[in-house]
Amino acid sequence: MACIFCRIINKEIPTDIVYEDKEIVAFKDIHPVAKVHILIIPKKHIESVAKLKSSDIMLIGKMIWQAKILAEKFGINKTGYKLLFNCGKDGGQVIKHIHLHLIGGQKLKNWPI
Ligand code: 5GP
Ligand code: ZN
Repeated sequence: MACIFCRIINKEIPTDIVYEDKEIVAFKDIHPVAKVHILIIPKKHIESVAKLKSSDIMLIGKMIWQAKILAEKFGINKTGYKLLFNCGKDGGQVIKHIHLHLIGGQKLKNWPI
């Protein structure tokens, strides 16, 4: 069975999608940790940062660029936000389809979180 984020990409699971294009999808996290919590994912199934290839560099850059645009759209670009890739077991990654967390809309804890 396809991974849960691939199923979201395929519209098999109801999801609040806030951006979509040919290569990436962004949607609201089902368990938000802050007022704004969006996940930005590639449509291509890549397990984690650890599995990136040099040919994925543009794709990852595009995900970060879209986080910047969505921060503007959700009105948190001036107040600030965190961008986070969890990677692997020790990094706390639960879903094994690479995703970028965009978290903001309120004062967040100081690093380390
Ligand atoms: P990770 O810990 O892997 O970096 O984060 C996975 C994130 O995916 C979590 O914040 C979790 O709440 C979110 N998530 C897991 N399943 C779903 C789902 O079915 N829909 C949505 N919108 N978010 C999900
Ligand atoms: Zn997947």
